[in-house]
Parts: sequence; structure tokens; C-alpha cells
Amino acid sequence: MRTEIIAVGTELLLGQIANTNAQWISKKLAKYGAPVYFHGVVGDNMERAIKTFEVASERSDVIIVTGGLGPTEDDLTRDAVKPLLKQNLVIHENTLAKIEAVYKKNNRQMTANNRKQALVFEHARVLANAEGMAPGQLVEHDQTLFVFLPGVPSEMKSLMEEHVLPYLIDAFQLESEIVSEMLRFIGIGESTLEHKLEDIIKYQQDPTIAPLAAEGEVGLRLTASGADAKAKIATLKADVLQRVGRYYYGSDDMTIEEKVRDLLKDKGMTLGSAESLTGGKFIERLIALPGASSVCEGSLVAYTAQAKENVIGVPANLIKQHGTISKECAEAMASQVQKRLSVDTAISFTGVAGPDNSEGQEPGVVYIALQIVGRDPIVERHHFEGGRDKVRTRAVKKGYEIIFR
Ligand code: ATP
Ligand code: MG
Repeated sequence: MRTEIIAVGTELLLGQIANTNAQWISKKLAKYGAPVYFHGVVGDNMERAIKTFEVASERSDVIIVTGGLGPTEDDLTRDAVKPLLKQNLVIHENTLAKIEAVYKKNNRQMTANNRKQALVFEHARVLANAEGMAPGQLVEHDQTLFVFLPGVPSEMKSLMEEHVLPYLIDAFQLESEIVSEMLRFIGIGESTLEHKLEDIIKYQQDPTIAPLAAEGEVGLRLTASGADAKAKIATLKADVLQRVGRYYYGSDDMTIEEKVRDLLKDKGMTLGSAESLTGGKFIERLIALPGASSVCEGSLVAYTAQAKENVIGVPANLIKQHGTISKECAEAMASQVQKRLSVDTAISFTGVAGPDNSEGQEPGVVYIALQIVGRDPIVERHHFEGGRDKVRTRAVKKGYEIIFR
């Protein structure tokens, strides 16, 4: 099965968005050992799109096309493959009814263009799109299978998972060949991790083990193949965790924010933050997660010294004596937020994001205090490298790391 993925859209060529659709589909197919031979991107240009589909049909068995199924003039995927497929486009009644219903519900006037989204090839297998308007389509032509999917990533993914992958698995007898698990660690540097696992990393061949450094954390990808792949990974994982398990917070798509949410939830604890240089970024990451409401109480954001007094309640004389970028101020911020929001876990951030010094301290100097009821308060001084964005992001990540510990 020679597969090719074509993404349609000028914004991809302009670099305004990255072609994450192709990446995601490739990753899915790689799991089944199905080789993807080409990734293509073509703009919203009829002539070049026609040519692209022609070339693809000559060299590939499966052509997965994303994008260009929408209602606007520039959505040209259907019209560009039509000459090649030599099939008529017909209205898919269920889809049309669905579009009409949405317009009616929102009291909006439907235009002729909106009908366009209901057009499918006459011999297509139509794949219902649970997330959006335009359905997916599977169309066979001259031993080539065309798969048409919307460009919106959530729609593309749900159609792939629900319809396209099961179809391909069946049609091409695909079997999951490669199993991999990404182990995620925080609070340990890449070199220390590698050092502790040196012999394993060096001599391990099946499963393979590959370290990966990410922002403020480290990953280890374990990959195995064959019928017993899962068991082999489980054995290696157990070995690895025996040595560095205390830094392990989860696997694959798990994030440290989710881990912290789960930890707090399990203990029935609530959290609040007092944020200066992070400007609410810490709490924002938590609130972005479903289930945040059961653990997240709120945040007090105060940037200036005055606001730290007024909003958070840091005593004026403490600021006068120690400044705002200090252990004392961080501690006071945490203990104040703990009181004011009545939470059992309070964290605070104060520091210099840069680019200029502040209170005689260099950019990157950040104090983070954590106060959990019944435990001794913790306050840490860090000196993060990088520009303003990086310092703020690193501070937020460190905050999650400290709670995880
Ligand atoms: P719509 O009905 O929304 O117009 P469509 O099928 O016509 O859907 P496009 O208009 O091509 O799809 O893309 C819709 C949006 O989906 C784009 O604005 C972009 O944000 C995202 N998108 C499109 N193609 C890709 C891609 N290859 N990778 C990641 N995101 C994409
Ligand atoms: Mg569109």
C-alpha cells in the first residue's frame, strides 16, 4: 500500500500554518507499518491542484487529501479531482439536511455556497462528519483509493479514527506492527537521565530506547515490533522506572498539567496561584483542562509592587525591606493567596522576565513558593535562560514540577 498525503491550502504554502494533518496521519499509519511515500502541499489553485492529483494517482495506491472541502470559492478539492475521477458530483441529502438545520437553528440565511459542502462524488462512500459540515469521502478510481477529508484538524482526526483507519485496516490487512510508548519525566535533566540509564540505552536493541529533550522535561521513547511488542515494552519500562521512576509522571499524550490536576483531584485538594511575571499563565494551563473546576479555585494576578499589596495583600513593609523579587515576597504571596482563596495548595511566582534588570536582579531570576496545608512551605530561586517568553514558560513549567514533586 503506497500512500500519499496531499494537503490543500494556500495558508500552508505561505507558512501561516504547519501541515500538522500530514504529520498526524503519517504517525497513525506508521503504527500499522503502512508506508507513506509522499507528503504534498498544493495551494488553492485549480491548475496546480489538478496536476498534483494526476501525479499522485500515477504513483500511489491510497491518496489521502485534506482541506478544500469548505463552502468558499477557494475550496476547490472536489472540482480539481473531478476530471480525473470522471464522476459527477451529487448532493448528499443527509448532509444537506444537516446544513439546512444548522442554518435554521441559528436563524441564518443559507447561500448556494453552503450547498457545496453537501456535494459528494456519485460513487463515493460517504463518511459522516460528526464534528463539522462537509463529510469525508472514499472514492475508488483505477485501483487507486482517494480519501477526502476536511482540513480542520479535529474533523480530519475524527473521520480518520472512526472511518478511514478501520477501512484501510480491513482493505489492506494492516496489522499494528510497531508499538511505542513515550515515557515522560520531569525534574531530571536529559544528561542525568541518560547517565542513570547508560547501559540500557547503549545495549538495548529491541525495544529501542531513544531519549528526547523537551521544554523543561525529558522523554524516553520505547519502540518495539512483533507480536510480543507490548510485553517487551512493559518489561523495559519496568526496568527504567526502577531506576528513575520518581521523575516519571506519565506516558504518551499525558501532560504535567494533567498529572497535577489528577494528583490534586485524588487527594481532594484545591489550588490557587498568585502570579506576577507569569501573568496568570500558570492557572490558564490548568483551567484549559476538563475537570479543572474540581481542583482549581482561582488566581490573583498582580504585576506591580502596588498591586501585590492591594490585590494579594503582601505587606508594604515586607516589600520595602526585601523587594518584590525575593524569597520573602514569594512566600508572602503564596500564604496570602492560600488565605484569600481558602485553598490547601497555593503557589506563587515573582521574578524578572526581562529583557531589563529589575530591582538590581538579572532577567531569568524567578522565585516560586509553594504552600500546602500541613506541610513546610517551599521556596525556590531559579535562574532561567532565554528571552522573556521562555523565562515565563519555564517558570510555569517549574511550578507544575514543584507541585508534582
Ligand atoms: P472548511 O469547511 O472549514 O473551509 P476545509 O475542508 O475547506 O474546511 P480548509 O479550508 O482547507 O478546510 O482548512 C480549514 C482550516 O483547517 C484551516 O484554516 C486551518 O486552520 C486548518 N487546516 C487546514 N489544512 C491543515 C493542515 N494540513 N494541517 C493543519 N491544519 C490545517
Ligand atoms: Mg475551507
